[in-house]
Amino acid sequence: MTVTPFQTPKGVHDILPNDHDYYTYIKKVVRHRLRQAGFKRISTPIFEFTDVFARSIGDATDIVEKEMYTFLDKKGRSLTLKPEGTAGVVRAYIEHGMKQLPRPVELYYIEPHFRYDRPQKGRYRQFWQFGYEMIGELDPALDAQVIYIANKINEDLGIDKLFDIQLNTIGSLEDRKKYIQALRDYYYGKERSLCEHCVSRLEKNPLRLLDCKNEDCMILAELAPKMTDYLSAESLEYYNDVKEYLNELEIPFTENPRLVRGLDYYSNTVFEFWDAKEGAQNAIGGGGRYDGLVEKMGGDPTPAVGFAAGIERIIAHMKREKIRVPCKDDIHVFVAQLGKEAKKKCLKLIDEMREAGIRTIGALGKGAMKDQLKLADKFNAKYTLILGITEVREGTIIIRNMQKGSQEVVKFDQVIDELVSKIGKNNLDKYTPGELLY
Ligand code: AMP
Repeated sequence: MTVTPFQTPKGVHDILPNDHDYYTYIKKVVRHRLRQAGFKRISTPIFEFTDVFARSIGDATDIVEKEMYTFLDKKGRSLTLKPEGTAGVVRAYIEHGMKQLPRPVELYYIEPHFRYDRPQKGRYRQFWQFGYEMIGELDPALDAQVIYIANKINEDLGIDKLFDIQLNTIGSLEDRKKYIQALRDYYYGKERSLCEHCVSRLEKNPLRLLDCKNEDCMILAELAPKMTDYLSAESLEYYNDVKEYLNELEIPFTENPRLVRGLDYYSNTVFEFWDAKEGAQNAIGGGGRYDGLVEKMGGDPTPAVGFAAGIERIIAHMKREKIRVPCKDDIHVFVAQLGKEAKKKCLKLIDEMREAGIRTIGALGKGAMKDQLKLADKFNAKYTLILGITEVREGTIIIRNMQKGSQEVVKFDQVIDELVSKIGKNNLDKYTPGELLY
């Protein structure tokens, strides 16, 4: 019987070791920058009650209408794999009484997310996002800071020049009501020129008509009323302050009156990092202010602002730019041995080398010396230690430099010191419990 091997479901993928180097590097940069700015890490569960997302993201959004992985558990409760990070963080903020903490409460996450999207380049059904939220303060300086940190992270990753920061304000709830009415008035009578999605959006979520990618819809959106004409003096002042602070921080941005973001919970500032060449299609992240969300989810009225970015897309951009990341997995030493006595000595030696921070692989199988050396080459080891019957008898061991092909015989007791000085103390992989791994 032939068995067909399994494959991953459509739209999800394994993260293989080479790509993990990118994930590790990006996570390090994110953690470093956010820690510097006083953020603390939070992880919310992979699944939540469906209402956590439906109530926050909004019933009439693409995510809630089409893209959620929703299922019933054995007791018939509706649960959903998290499609984005903010709703869970806000749920946790309320549930754990974080309003008691000094404000703003600064939280960040690095987590997998799930959306039943149509899989294509840069669009998967499981993808990683990092994101951060500043909860509890209302000030345009915070909005500018959130954008500044995102830009800093891009700078550290070497991809900041690839993106345009698109900025807009969608005003307060009151402003938006007036604006939505103006949008409806504008679009009524033009339904025949809209795509079928936009016809239904016109009733449910008219703001989304502005960022539809259909060509006819884009032409109509171009001429549609602009949010900025419906802003209250207060919202306008807020927006102007955000821009002023961004200028102060020397962050270039493009004002985009049609940027609305896909989720319901935003208010005032919204922004996205668009690919300078491909635009919104290949955005790596976005965010904005969401002052109404905490209250909508059952907490006290609490202003907040945040950002989230997609890690797969960041990696794709880094690869496109041929940006390499350090790999810490390279093997320092391969241990080859012959004979039972040698193997016994090697077992202990390997352990001591690893304790000393030398990344070591030992061929403890039975292969011939020639095969073991070939294996050392395949593992890309810098050095190979060779311990045969003669060396055991003489209390020595051979160090072979794999690149140069040269060999030297050293005393067995001194081999670790010799290797440490060859590899260099700074290159050792020494782990002291209690010390930060990252
Ligand atoms: P959003 O909150 O939808 O703007 O998502 C923020 C970022 O997450 C996007 O800019 C993408 O980088 C990333 N992202 C969103 N959806 C997906 C997906 N289906 N596959 C891969 N990355 C995604």
